Parts: sequence; C-alpha cells; structure tokens
Amino acid sequence: MKISPQDNGHPATLHVQNVIAGEERAVSQTYASRSPAHREDVVALAPRSTKEEVREACAKSRAAQRAWARTPAPARAQVIGRLGQLLREEKESLSRFVSREMGKPIREARGSVQEAIDTCDFFQSEGRRLYGQTVPSELSNKELYTYRRPVGVVGVITAGNFPIAVPSWKLVPALLCGNSAVWKPSDDAPGIGALFADLWYRAGLPREVLSVVHGGGAEGAGQFLIEMMDEGLLDKISFTGSTEVGRLVGEVCGRNLKRPSLELGGKNPLVILADADLDLAVDGALWSSFGTAGQRCTSCGNIIVDKRVLPQVRELLVKKASALKIGDPMNEGVDYGPFINERFLERWVAQRSIGIEDGASLLLDGRRVTPGNEPEGFSGDAQHGLYATPRIFEHVKMNMRIAQEECFGPTVNLVEVDGLDEAIEAANGTPYGLSSAIYTRDAKAMLRFKEEIQAGMTSVNNSTTGAEAHLPFGGNGASGNGSRESGIWVIESYTRWQAVNVDLAGKLQLAQIDLEDAAPPEKPDWSQLVR
Ligand code: NAD
Repeated sequence: MKISPQDNGHPATLHVQNVIAGEERAVSQTYASRSPAHREDVVALAPRSTKEEVREACAKSRAAQRAWARTPAPARAQVIGRLGQLLREEKESLSRFVSREMGKPIREARGSVQEAIDTCDFFQSEGRRLYGQTVPSELSNKELYTYRRPVGVVGVITAGNFPIAVPSWKLVPALLCGNSAVWKPSDDAPGIGALFADLWYRAGLPREVLSVVHGGGAEGAGQFLIEMMDEGLLDKISFTGSTEVGRLVGEVCGRNLKRPSLELGGKNPLVILADADLDLAVDGALWSSFGTAGQRCTSCGNIIVDKRVLPQVRELLVKKASALKIGDPMNEGVDYGPFINERFLERWVAQRSIGIEDGASLLLDGRRVTPGNEPEGFSGDAQHGLYATPRIFEHVKMNMRIAQEECFGPTVNLVEVDGLDEAIEAANGTPYGLSSAIYTRDAKAMLRFKEEIQAGMTSVNNSTTGAEAHLPFGGNGASGNGSRESGIWVIESYTRWQAVNVDLAGKLQLAQIDLEDAAPPEKPDWSQLVR
C-alpha cells in the first residue's frame, strides 16, 4: 500500500492493491473511491480485478486453507485476539477513515469499529471451544464422536454501508474455523477493505489465508468471484448485499450443492400501539428511519401506527424530523450524513414520484441539498456532497410499491392501522423479514408480536436497528436464506459436522442388526389390585 498527498486540501490518497496468494499485486486498471461528503476527495485508488486475478486468488487459496486448518484452533484464535487489540489501537483513525470513505457519522463509525472489536473478543475464546460431542453407541466397545471441520475456501462479498463490522462478522468466524477466504470488499469502500486486511496480516494471519480482490459487482470482481463456484474453486459464498444479487449467489451455490450465507435487504416495520410512550417511540422511529441516512439493512421502512395515536405521532415525527442535523459526517453533532453513492441518491430521488403515483402523500418533502438550498443547521459541503433532507410519506397502504420495496435512503412511510391484529398483519405484509420493532406497554401485546412477527430480529420498545456480537443476526423471506451471523450460531455456517465411530470390539459389529435385546421380565398380574 502506498499513500500519496492530494493538492486540494483533503487528506492523502491510499493506493490499494489486491492481495493474491500472499502477495500484493501491481495494479493494472484502477478506479477512484471518492468521499460522498466531498466528491473531489479521492480517498483511495483501487484495482479493477480481472477474472484471471480472481481465479488465481481462489485457486491458490486451496493449499493455504489446508495448512491453516492444521493450525490448532486456539492458535488460530490468537490471531483473532491480536486483531481485536490492533483494532482497539487504531479505532479512532479507522473510524475517521470509515466516515471519510463512506460517509457514516463519526459517532456511528466508532460504533461500527467497536462491533468488529466485540466480534474479535467473542471469537478469540471460541477458538478454545469449537466443541464436538461424544455420543453413546448402541453397540458395546464402540465410541461415537462428532467434530467440526472447516468448509474449505470461502468467497466473501460485502456491502459498503457497514464496511468493517459486516466483513468482521464473516471473516472472523470463517478464518477461526480453519477456512481460507477470498474477499471482495464493497467498491464503495475499498480503502477500508485494504486497511482491515492489513490489520489481519499485522495480527499474524498467514497472508495466503486471506486474499483480497477489489473491483465492481456485475461484470467485475464480484461477478467473477461468484463464477468461481461453477469452476469448483469455492466451497461457499458468504454474501451481504441486495436481495437481487443475493438470489444470483443462491442460484450458483444451489446448483453446486453448496450452502451460501445470504444477508440481504429489508423493509423493516416499526409498530406504535395506542398505549406506547410516544416520545420514546418517535425517537426510536427517527433513529431507525434516518440514522446513516436510511442506508442500513435494518432501517425502518414502514412506521405502523394505531389510528388512536396517529395525529400525535404525525405531529411529533414532523417536528423532530425537521430538526435533524444533517451534514459533514466528521462533525460530532450530525444526526446523519450523505448518501454513500450516486446510485442510492438517484433511487431515492425516483422513489418520490413512485409514492405519489401510487396515491401516497408527502408529509415531509425531502429534497437533495444543493448550494443556496441548505436546511437550517446544515454543516456539509452542499456543492460536492450527496446530502438530502428527510422524506415522510403518509396515507400509505401496504400494497403500494413504496411500502413493499426497500429504498435505502432517508425516507419512511406512515401506515395507519386499527389495533394489534392489523398492526401485525401490516408488519408481516412485505416479502422481507429482517428486523422489526413494537412500542407498547402491554405485556400481552409484546408477547403476541414476538410470537407472530416473521422477522429474524425483533425489538420491544427499541429501534429496528442495532446488533450485538453475541446475538444471531439475520433475516427470513427476501432478507436471507435463514443463515445467521454472529454469536455461536454463525459457526454452523463455516463448519461441517463430521461423525466418527471407533470400534474396539475386534469383530465386525453391525448397528441396527447386531443389537442384543434384553429379554423383557415376566409381566406381573395387577388385575387383583383394582376392582
Ligand atoms: P449490492 O448487492 O449492489 O452490492 C453488494 C456487494 O455485491 C458489493 O460488493 C458489490 O460490488 C457486489 N455486487 C453487486 N452486483 C454484483 C453481481 N452482479 N455479482 C456479484 N457481486 C455483485 O448491494 P448495495 O446496494 O451496494 O448494498 C445495499 C444492500 O445491502 C441493501 O439491500 C441492504 O439492505 C443490504 N445489506 C444487508 C445487510 C444484512 O446484514 N442483511 C447488511 C448491509 C447491507
């Protein structure tokens, strides 16, 4: 990695290289990763990998995997422990770099680096467990065992909105379990990808165990990596991104009889019942809907409100959303920063007319921030940054496209319902099932919601977003294939169970056939004891 100064007043540019078979490779074609807060700031120059480079990375990862799997798991876990320590030491500079490259407010960027640290803390000790079982045999002189074995070479593809936390959710358990990985970081965050990989190597990971190939998605490194499954060079793909691309990954893995991990989009509901603490609920709704400018998989898409409190919720929401501080993500006081890229901004712009066409009305008309058109308290660069004010639709019905489709920007819908039954029906009324929330003081309503909501994650009196390193993270329906990240549950995704029997009988014993049934004792006659 090389660093070169810029002459436009912005910090230096990071020159990113692929790491293939343990070596940094000279770059042929590059692209610029620009800060979404200042488009003229070139944060990194990253390679556009060729298919041949991706193929070489996957092919050479096989031998590295075998050697790494022979390293005892507690020794592998020591690398994870050192990675956690390095992340702690570099937390502030990494967080600032995250803010600079993809626009997450610095407070949230620190949280996302902390999530990677927590993941290392959790899995460092998991290396001393990775337990198998001893299982009783139905035959004498025979022992049965189970062992966890690594899956092999894992292709990892990640999105740009959590450019360090989500890769850590995948790479930490995958490598701990004795797999090798070929990682394609998001093209929105190649610089963060390079810095994170560098920390792995500094932590003592043999460089060949983690290869990094940069580039775009369709017709780029992402697509090439998926194609390596058909060439027999990958044993698994772990993907975080859109449902559309997740389906492609699922199809390729399915025809090769491999199990992918798919963490995809969401259209997450937040229910406010009539008895809720409305201030608390609206604060949760704002954070869920507009935090990270709505660019979280767990962002709230539909606020589902009991009609008895809709007027109050409506008023509070408009008041508080209008007061949100938008601006430079490095500014400690901002509520949200810019769009991550032009693609997300354009989709958000188009969503406005889709909502109106379908019959929804604008309660708050969000717009792109441009010079001379800045909202009160705005602290960003309106000319060179991708900023927008919050959009709220009302009179939204669950069959409208804006209620069904993920937008990935600062926009949310108000959906009116009458009571808990209608609220649950609306909350389950999209193809997605990632996260969800309910605000109520009624214990029975909480219980029913927890039981009947079809999302993988549910909050009671808290927002739709937020994860902890030791809780399973993942969704159902169009949000994923049932795989889970984090905690002990993710170990299932990166290991295969092996069943072993050891027979010490010295003769051929056949289960089910050589069973010696003990003769049942004679049946006593109890009929005399009763009338
Ligand atoms: P995306 O699917 O376009 O891109 C994600 C990754 O896949 C990137 O690295 C990209 O380069 C690559 N990619 C894109 N097209 C590809 C293709 N045809 N073949 C192979 N790789 C390809 O996603 P995005 O729009 O950048 O990210 C936002 C999406 O990610 C949202 O839907 C969001 O909900 C989802 N997401 C989900 C989670 C989760 O844990 N469930 C977390 C973060 C983001």
